[in-house]
Order: sequence, then structure tokens, then C-alpha cells
Amino acid sequence: MIANINYVKKVLGDNKAKKKFGQNFLIDENIVEKIGKNACDKELRTIEIGPGLGALSEILLKYSKCVDAYEIDKDMIDILNETIKDEKFNLFYEDFLKTDLDKYKNEEIRICANLPYYVTTPILFKIFNSNLNVSKITVMVQKEVAERFNAKVNTKDYAALSIIVQYLYDVKYEMTVSKNVFYPSPQVDSAVISFSPKIKRNFEYEKRLFEFIENCFRKRRKTLNNNLKDFLDDKQINKIYETLNLSLNIRAQEIDLETFIKMYEVVHEG
Ligand code: SAM
Repeated sequence: MIANINYVKKVLGDNKAKKKFGQNFLIDENIVEKIGKNACDKELRTIEIGPGLGALSEILLKYSKCVDAYEIDKDMIDILNETIKDEKFNLFYEDFLKTDLDKYKNEEIRICANLPYYVTTPILFKIFNSNLNVSKITVMVQKEVAERFNAKVNTKDYAALSIIVQYLYDVKYEMTVSKNVFYPSPQVDSAVISFSPKIKRNFEYEKRLFEFIENCFRKRRKTLNNNLKDFLDDKQINKIYETLNLSLNIRAQEIDLETFIKMYEVVHEG
């Protein structure tokens, strides 16, 4: 078992975990088992971002057809080449943010990772914006980031980001993970969150809808009406309030996804 403090310390040897690459290694075998079992499908390839010393990779290999792992740190690559000798394991010495994902275009895949915290959002948006057939994305992120993705209407974390992601995916907060199951231990607790696609993508429509939602949140403390004035004319604004029977004092944080879609359609689709 790689997810074990003695193993991790031994295999790291003189190497220190690198802060600049967001290295916090999992050292709890129950947690990695739970994540991997839930994330994978035996018939499908799983892509892993940042395998590190392989704690999660080992479990992903157990539950997947094969694993393609992308790692930015050459020291980790050297260790993994020595320690995981499984022909189902395809290791790439690459920055995932620069990886061309087109090669997965015609294949249903899974994605699973204990994400480096410093690039969580760019990595997730690279995946969300790709045209891949990913049937489930399961990632470990900082707890507060997971809460923001999963935020519901009328809560403090509810923002354009939560609505956009929840429009595209069924978002599930899988579990909270204590900072004590990592080496070195980070400052804050983490959480595992999963995203399962719920719509057929229409990138042109999404671009316009998401821009509309972001504009509604532009001045968070102001009313919706105040935000709308910045990008719609009076006639369009009146039409929204009349058709949807909205209160003049309502704020964007109080509006659910369906209502945003209706608002957008009132303006743009007659
Ligand atoms: N998967 C291991 C585990 O759970 O123990 C390590 C997780 S650690 C939080 C993040 C890993 O991502 C590190 O191995 C780090 O070197 C790697 N990493 C950081 N930035 C990366 C990038 N842009 N592309 C690929 N890997 C990256």
C-alpha cells in the first residue's frame, strides 16, 4: 500500500514534498480506496492528474480498464517508474494544463485526482470546457472550494460559478477529508466532490447564458435590477420582471438556475 506514512517517507528519501507543485500526499488507505472505488468503472480508462507517489493511482488501477496519469514533477516520474510496474499504467511527464486532450475525443472516460490546490480551478475549467465524453469527474479539493461548487440558492457561497457548474453537472459533495490524512498536512481540510454531466453540450448557447449570469452577479451587493441596467435596456428589463413576476428588490443570490435560464430566454429568444 502506497497510502501509508512509512512508505511515503521512505520512498521520498532526501526529496522534500514540493510546495510549488502543491504536493500533499495521501497517507490513508481507507480514503484512497473509497475515492477510487466510487470514481472508476472497470470498463473505462481513468485519467489522473498529479499521481505523485502513486497512492491514488494504485487504487484507480484496481477499478479501471487502464490509467493515464499526468505528472509535472520529474522526481515523481522517476519514483513511479520504479514502483508501479503495471502495463495498464500509462505515465506522462507533462503539465496537465498543456496536455492536448483531443486524443480522448472518441472515448468515454473517467477523471479522478487529488488536485494540487494552486491550480484547482484552471484544471477543472480545462476539463469543463473540453469537448470530452467524461462520465464522471471525481476530485479532492480544498473544502471551501467544494462548498462553493456545491452552493445552493440563498447561501453565502452561491455565485455565478456555482450556477454555471450546476447547470452542466450533477454536483455531489462526496465527503469531507481531514487534513491529517496528508503528508505534509495542509492548513485546511479537504473534500471529495464529483461532477456527472447532465446535459448535451451546446458551447455557443452556454457561452451567452453564462455571460448573462455573470453579469447579473457583477455587483453582488446591489439588486438584480441595478445589475441588469448595466447591460440591458429598460424595455428588456421590464419584460423580465413582468414575465417572471419578480420582486423589484430581488438579488442575484436569491435566484435559482431555472429562473436565470427563463430570464435569459425572455431577453434573447423573444
Ligand atoms: N495523487 C497523489 C496523492 O494523492 O498522494 C499526489 C497529490 S498532490 C496533492 C498533487 C500532485 O500533482 C503532485 O504530485 C504534483 O507534483 C502534481 N502536479 C502539480 N501541478 C501539476 C500539473 N500542472 N500537471 C500535472 N501534475 C501536477
